[in-house]
This record gives sequence, C-alpha cells and structure tokens, in this order.
Amino acid sequence: MLRKLLFWSIAVVFPLPLVLTYDYQATEPDSLKFYIFLGLIAYTWWLLSILLSVRPSWLDRSVGLPSIYGLHGMLGVLAIATAYVHRDYGYSPSRLARDLGDWGFYGALGVLCFSVFFMSGWFVDRSSLLLTAKRILEVVFRRQLSVWVHRLNLVVVAMIWLHVHLLLRVNQHFAFMMLFDLYTVVVMGIYTWKKWIAPDTYPTGTVISNEMLGGATRRVSVKVDRKASTLQPGDFFFLSFEGSPSVSREWHPFSVTDDNPETLTFTIRQHGDFTRRVEDVEVGTRVRLEGPFGRFESIIQDRDHEAPLVFLGMGAGAAPLISLTAAHHTTRKIHLLWAVRNPEDAYYRDVLKEYQAASGDHLQVTISIGRFRREDLTNALSAQEVTKGSFFIVGPNPAVLANQRLLRRIGVPARRIHQERLTM
Ligand SMILES: Cc1cc2nc3c(=O)[nH]c(=O)nc-3n(C[C@H](O)[C@H](O)[C@H](O)COP(=O)(O)OP(=O)(O)OC[C@H]3O[C@@H](n4cnc5c(N)ncnc54)[C@H](O)[C@@H]3O)c2cc1C
Repeated sequence: MLRKLLFWSIAVVFPLPLVLTYDYQATEPDSLKFYIFLGLIAYTWWLLSILLSVRPSWLDRSVGLPSIYGLHGMLGVLAIATAYVHRDYGYSPSRLARDLGDWGFYGALGVLCFSVFFMSGWFVDRSSLLLTAKRILEVVFRRQLSVWVHRLNLVVVAMIWLHVHLLLRVNQHFAFMMLFDLYTVVVMGIYTWKKWIAPDTYPTGTVISNEMLGGATRRVSVKVDRKASTLQPGDFFFLSFEGSPSVSREWHPFSVTDDNPETLTFTIRQHGDFTRRVEDVEVGTRVRLEGPFGRFESIIQDRDHEAPLVFLGMGAGAAPLISLTAAHHTTRKIHLLWAVRNPEDAYYRDVLKEYQAASGDHLQVTISIGRFRREDLTNALSAQEVTKGSFFIVGPNPAVLANQRLLRRIGVPARRIHQERLTM
C-alpha cells in the first residue's frame, strides 16, 4: 500500500522542478502564473504517462503492471482536465501558439476517448453492451491500429512543445526553457530507445514445440538461449515471433505455464487475429521475449505462509496459476479452481493429477465446466479458505470482475484478492 502511494506521488513530484523554476523566473501576476502552471502540469503529466508506457520491469516487480497502466491512464485524464482550465482561462497573444495549443488539446482529448474505449477496460469490462460494441468495432479498429492511434499522443506532445516555444512570455526565461527541453528530450529519448532499440537486447529463444490443446488452445514451448534466471512462478512475458511468414511480430503478453527457466511453456487461447495465427508458428521459429513481469510470487512470499492459497483460473487464465501450483504444491496448502468451457478444454487435468499425487494432500483441484456460480464457490471453498486464504484470480476481464464480486459476497475481503486480467 505504502509502495503504491509512493508510486502515485510521482505524479505530484514530477512537475515540481519545472513549475518551481517558472515561478522563480517569471514576473507576471500570480493569477496569470497559475494558469501557466496548469499548462505545465498537464504537459509533464503527458510526458510521465509516456515514460510509464515503456513498462520498466523493475517497476513492475515493485508495484505491478496494472498499477503502472492505471497511473498511465489516470494521468491522461487528469492532464486533459488541467489542460482544459489552462486553455479556457489562459491568454496567448500568438495566433500560431494558440492554434497549436488548441489542436494539441483536442488531439489529446480524441486519443483519450478512443483509448479509454478500445484499450482500457474501464467501461467495456463493466457493460456487456459496450463490450459487444467494442468487439464489432474491433473488426476495423484492430489492436495494432489502436496502438498507432494511441501513439498520436507523441504528435500532441510535439505540438505543445512548439506552443510553449512560441510564447514570448514564457520562452524568454532561459533556465526554464533549458529544463523544459531537458524533460522533453529525456522522455522522448527513453521512449525511442525502449520501443525501437532495446528490443534487440531482449532475451531470445527458439520454438521447440507447438501443439494443440483442447478445442482452441495451443501449447507453445520456447527453449531460451540463456536460462531465464529472474523468472518467478506466475510470471508472464511479452512475446514476438521473428521471421514467421504468417504471424506478425507484434508483442503480446502470455504467462509461463510451468516452472522450468530453460524451456518456457505458454498456453495460448486462440480467439483473435494474432492468437489464431499462432498455429502457423513452426518449430525452429525465433522468439524475442520482453520480461519477465509479474507480482504473484512476491505477494505469496510477503503474506502469511500458513494461509491457504486459492487459485481461481478461467480458461487459459489457469496458466500462471499452474506455474504457481508447480512451485508450491509440496509446501503450501493450495486449492486450484479451474473453469473451462468444454470438457476437452481441461487439458491440464492429468498434469494436475500428478501434482496432486505428489503433494502429500496439500493440493486440491476443482474443475468446473462453465463458470463458477455463487453456490459452487460456497460449496467448494472451506471455511478456512474463506477466512484466511489468499485468492488469486486470472481470466478475461469481465469474468475476473464477476468472480471478485462473488468472493466479496461470500465474505473474502478485497485485500486478500489478487488478480490478473487477460487484457490491459
Ligand atoms: C498479463 C497478461 C497475461 C496473459 N496471459 C495469457 C496466457 O497465458 N494465455 C492466453 O491465451 N492469453 C493470455 N493473455 C491474453 C493475450 O495476451 C491476448 O488474448 C492476446 O494478446 C489477444 O491477441 P489477439 O490479436 O489474438 O486478439 P484480439 O482480438 O486482437 O484481442 C482480444 C483482446 O485482447 C486484447 N489484446 C490484444 N493484443 C493485446 C496486447 N498486446 N496486450 C494486451 N491486450 C491485448 C485486445 O484489446 C482485446 O480486448 C494475457 C494477457 C495479459 C495482459
């Protein structure tokens, strides 16, 4: 909690040097300065939001990727609110500067609305109507197109940068302008390096098997060139298949399904443009991996070691939970609940039986064909699990939210429920 608070406080600290330098140098009345401060705060929040989008894995280990993307999204909203007041009450004598400011504002507003709908689950995960509308629209606005629309934020930043450089009242302050440019250059430098140069340094591996599991799932094993020594149970990587003629090189996140750091196995549910093509990935295809990411193992290590672990997975969402089960089934009390669509989708039934046999009564497995309803959970969970257990839910966003609600209703407090949603 304290860690997250500290993380969110970056939003307050990040604009301060720029705001204080302007305050020190500028001589206009405080009322005018205030609206300039708001503009500066909006600009630095856009920069911070870009910085967070490079998802450094050390930061993920500390606060988790959902928090990073959460702050990234919130900064987008807050920046629009502050930019709105700045634009409405601020004054700019230069026509071009004013136009650039306006275009930047409307551009940022448009990208924000688009991203909230297509890329965040803020609304679509909570309304089946909006989710259906999103799925229909995604025929045109495919993921890669959405990513490029999102990147228009870089154009917005360029417009605002120029807007500031054109304002005589502002650009006369040399130290302030140096700092302003330093902020911009450093953030853009880090972004360019991370998106276009760093991937060449990421770990690589080779696909050694790609087999069908159940109705619409693949199990892809990747032998990594160098042992993934920082891998923890429950982790996930962003994968890019290189040199496969029919599969695009775009990065997609998938969880590691077991605990072998030399051969990473991924369980991939085929339901969209990219995942449907995974069956064309041939043995021998080279893979690049960004990561590992994930916080499940550190949460398990930080909490009471006597408390039971309750894993609740939906479909391929079981992947990270099976990896956690592989790591802990002989030492921790575990109850793995797995909901699948059809009986043939319970493809890890035999593996789980083996873990169960080796666990010395530590592991209990409950598989449900169809989602868990409230009475299923009430019957399946022991009183000790409900009152003391640490719960880990993984699956598609709406299913995770629904299960979280069910658990809350049967008495599990939110602080003991941890989740990973299969979209961001
Ligand atoms: C942390 C994490 C771990 C995951 N682990 C697994 C796993 O082990 N097995 C598995 O089958 N699936 C996993 N997923 C989901 C998987 O990444 C998506 O299903 C896949 O990227 C969808 O791609 P698509 O083009 O086939 O589908 P699309 O039809 O393009 O997308 C389906 C949904 O996935 C979202 N999506 C698409 N691409 C990405 C992306 N690059 N990043 C985030 N969301 C995206 C879309 O917004 C859409 O809502 C995981 C997702 C996350 C966030």
